[in-house]
Amino acid sequence: MARSDEPSFRDSVNMMFNRAVALTGLPPGLVEKIRVCNATYTVRFGVRLRGDIHTFTGYRSVHSEHMEPVKGGIRYATSVNQNEVEALAALMTFKCALVETPFGGSKGGLCLDPREWEEHEMEQITRRFAYELAKRDLINPSQNVPAPDMGTGEREMAWIADQYMRMNTTDINGRACVTGKPLNAGGIAGRVEATGRGVQYALQEFFRHKDDVAAAGLDGKLDGKRVIVQGLGNVGYHAAKFLADEDSCKIIAIIERDGGICNYDGLDVDDVRDWIAAHGGVSGYPHGDYVSDGAALLEYECDIMIPAALEGVIHLSNAARVKAPLIIEAANGPITAGADEILRKKGTIIIPDMYANAGGVTVSYFEWVKNLSHIRFGRMQRRQEEARHQLLVDELNRVMDAAGLSEHLSESFTQRYLSGAGELELVRSGLDDTMRGAYQTMREVWRSRDDVEDLRVAAYLVSIGRVADSYRAKGL
Ligand code: NAD
Repeated sequence: MARSDEPSFRDSVNMMFNRAVALTGLPPGLVEKIRVCNATYTVRFGVRLRGDIHTFTGYRSVHSEHMEPVKGGIRYATSVNQNEVEALAALMTFKCALVETPFGGSKGGLCLDPREWEEHEMEQITRRFAYELAKRDLINPSQNVPAPDMGTGEREMAWIADQYMRMNTTDINGRACVTGKPLNAGGIAGRVEATGRGVQYALQEFFRHKDDVAAAGLDGKLDGKRVIVQGLGNVGYHAAKFLADEDSCKIIAIIERDGGICNYDGLDVDDVRDWIAAHGGVSGYPHGDYVSDGAALLEYECDIMIPAALEGVIHLSNAARVKAPLIIEAANGPITAGADEILRKKGTIIIPDMYANAGGVTVSYFEWVKNLSHIRFGRMQRRQEEARHQLLVDELNRVMDAAGLSEHLSESFTQRYLSGAGELELVRSGLDDTMRGAYQTMREVWRSRDDVEDLRVAAYLVSIGRVADSYRAKGL
């Protein structure tokens, strides 16, 4: 249980921001401008459902318009409130600046439990919410571009895009009003997996830096590391799956709403996901030990902890007992400001949310660019690239023949070399490049400044500096 003296999520984000900004020497007026949330719109709307009118409360918060459009997901959960939406919008500002996606920060939320409503009811509610936001330009390709977050996904984004286009029939860029859409509705290959994929790329980059690995008290490669994941939703599932399948990590525990399961030989991520889909939770899963108090598993020994569900799960009451030497914040705000201090003192290395889960907004950026350019990435170059590679392969084989060599280029090399990059390969490549580059920028600050204790402050310093530069350039 979180303690009552724990700051709110927004206060927690502000405390972390303040810790970093104190090291910048920026004028107080500019600091205040960067810190505050510019505007939050609250809407209450009614939808006739099940023979009655139901009133829903939604929010769209714009934290910073130093760049436009502003960007940030829409969350569906009963816990949604103004404080949470504003905290998440602030994180979006700093996240976009850190990974150099040219957006300001925003976030939205609707206070409801999506599991309580049928699909056609969710569509009615979502379209009505989208209508309320779009008519105030809080959904708009050049001003405010939402994306999925907790409780929403491709389905909701397709409804939102369609609703916007019904209201703006001549807007040729209408599809760019929201990202995270299904492929057939203007989405991009690799968006669904993007945030979890980004977590994997972030960890791969971390393990390329021996000093950083040593600072966490770990050694060796990512290969074989024991991982605990909280939340097997979009982000947690993809992160866990890729780490297990491609980096040979062992997923030793998975924590969900109804408890957690543990297996030191490693859990089969897809099998657990199928079980949850069929049974509504992890309870009863046959290939792991069930723990009804899932949060207790956050205190188990492991090498890497991935909180990928919701905010505030590591707090003043449990932080001291968390044993993971490395925590990667796949969720937004999973560690409160107080817990952050306790963990730092213990020497825990935290890869902060604004970097760790930036894969989503990075690929959303690619999707937005794709929508504005009206062409799939790779469509022009792919076959041309293959033809040039074919030329080289043919020539090399000819030279080898002429030299009397019996060896030719192997079939498997030839096949791999010949295949040109399609959209998915290009998206993954752009994402990998972004995650590597942002980590290097962040760690450079961490490693080069004596007054910077941790990666979170380093991340804030990079982001705050960039936002400040934008405001200055605008002549504010
Ligand atoms: P999701 O709704 O797909 O998944 C959330 C998962 O967490 C679900 O499986 C849910 O059952 C589980 N969960 C909920 N409450 C829990 C609890 N108390 N204990 C354990 N598990 C619990 O959401 P998501 O899109 O994967 O988002 C997860 C986090 O990642 C959020 O903090 C979100 O803001 C952040 N995030 C998401 C994206 C994205 O692209 N979807 C991008 C950046 C950040």
